[in-house]
Amino acid sequence: MARPPRETGRLDEVVRTCIGCRQRADKTNLVRVVAVQESTTSVVTPDPRGTLPGRGAHLHPTHRCLDLATRRKAFGRALRIEGPLDLSAVVALMEESGPTA
Ligand SMILES: [Zn+2]
Repeated sequence: MARPPRETGRLDEVVRTCIGCRQRADKTNLVRVVAVQESTTSVVTPDPRGTLPGRGAHLHPTHRCLDLATRRKAFGRALRIEGPLDLSAVVALMEESGPTA
């Protein structure tokens, strides 16, 4: 039913959980996002290089995972923020990368 587990056998691989589909994936397959506070809105900002400070969340750069994460309000939970979120930068990133799944 589920995908067969992949044995990597390596402890130094960095695995993160996608906040959209909740699948664990190698960090390099996910995009990191951080919340940048701007007055009353938290702007969810893609951080592909992993250089921005603060609490990050990871998701697949696909519309599906973005949609799932949005509907589950996973961004607020994962980034520990309340109030309005501006996801336009993340949406723009998905538009750029196109359907990669
Ligand atoms: Zn995902």
